[in-house]
Amino acid sequence: MSDQEIHIIGAGPSGLAAALYLGRAGLKPIVFEQAHEVGARFQGDFQGLENWSTEDDVTEMLAGVGLETNFRCVPYDAGGAYGPSGERVDLHTDRPLFYLVERGSGPASLDTGLKRQALAAGAEIQFGVRMERSAADKVIVATGPRTPSAAAQGLVFETSHPDGFYAFLGNHLAPRGYAYLLVHEGRATLATCLFDQFDRAEEHFDRVLKTALDTLNFNVHAARSFGGYVDFGLRRPWTRNDRFYYVGERAGLQDALWGFGLRYAIRSGMLAGRAIAMDEDYDALVEEHLAGRLKASLANRVLFDRLANHGYSWALRRLSSVDVGEVLRRHHRPSAAKNVLYDIGRRRYPTRQEPSCEREDCRCLWCEHGREEGTASCHAEGLETADCVV
Ligand SMILES: Cc1cc2nc3c(=O)[nH]c(=O)nc-3n(C[C@H](O)[C@H](O)[C@H](O)COP(=O)(O)OP(=O)(O)OC[C@H]3O[C@@H](n4cnc5c(N)ncnc54)[C@H](O)[C@@H]3O)c2cc1C
Repeated sequence: MSDQEIHIIGAGPSGLAAALYLGRAGLKPIVFEQAHEVGARFQGDFQGLENWSTEDDVTEMLAGVGLETNFRCVPYDAGGAYGPSGERVDLHTDRPLFYLVERGSGPASLDTGLKRQALAAGAEIQFGVRMERSAADKVIVATGPRTPSAAAQGLVFETSHPDGFYAFLGNHLAPRGYAYLLVHEGRATLATCLFDQFDRAEEHFDRVLKTALDTLNFNVHAARSFGGYVDFGLRRPWTRNDRFYYVGERAGLQDALWGFGLRYAIRSGMLAGRAIAMDEDYDALVEEHLAGRLKASLANRVLFDRLANHGYSWALRRLSSVDVGEVLRRHHRPSAAKNVLYDIGRRRYPTRQEPSCEREDCRCLWCEHGREEGTASCHAEGLETADCVV
């Protein structure tokens, strides 16, 4: 199938990783992106490439799948965490807890780095094209989150505060979530990440800003706000009709504990590319490489939901004397107890089936596969036909 076009919808990390893999395999990936550049949904904000869910370092994982770190990728291995009453705990790890990356369209962003690698591999990217249907034999749907499971609201700004990372816990700041401040070379990202009360995100963020300023006393210049949501509503199956491959957050392949979805996005894009190039079963690859950790993350979400403010304080006291990376690694390992909690989580956060549109003349991606599968109607869910692909 070397001269066959493979359509990839969405140029986020999952779509670009898929394009990169397919291009290197000698196929013809064409990426369609509705925005006019990669990373358009971000503002140059800093994110963390988590380094706690596997035994190997995340940079080894990236190198292992042939990805270069041709983007800003800075290890962070110590930081401060503040509990609901303002109590501080210093966090330590024996290896980087995460790697700071930049999102957006800037020259050092993760998105730009992946774009460069995909283009170098021979992929074509068409910007300003919103795709709602495709006639290609193989289509990778990489359109990002569809339904909010958690939301983030924040500011990016310039500051003279030294480099560092700080976490803030407390349901008055981030209901069932956390807030964070990341500072690197005079630039900072401060955000609240809420797993409840999304409609009050701004109010929570105002409190986070005040708390962070009172606690850390930093200056703020040239501030821009940003926000968005994440989607961990695992949607099985991940392949439809041997034709549509769902990757990244579009598939709900996202960390249910804290929303660290980048690794899942990149890895699932690579796995979809591999399934197409090597004629392998994508669903089986997802089960083998990602499902265990995703299940553990949902189990961890069930535990975290129970903590509330007094539990956050208790957890922080315990973390003060241990290697926090090792504790998180242990919590991501599959176990019988995690499976029980995962089953509870599945009932609380039900996995969603792909909806399908029922309009007879509609050839959108949902309709093409959904009608045959006989899944729920997206009209019944109040979704417009035009929204079907997203
Ligand atoms: C504020 C915020 C902070 C976050 N922080 C972290 C973090 O610290 N660490 C972490 O690991 N993760 C973090 N995440 C999650 C992470 O950003 C996502 O998991 C990741 O971007 C998902 O990649 P993706 O390729 O699946 O989707 P996206 O990155 O959303 O890319 C999807 C792309 O598809 C395009 N698209 C959509 N529909 C169409 C269409 N019909 N036609 C053409 N193009 C289309 C969109 O324009 C977009 O460019 C954060 C998310 C948010 C919102």
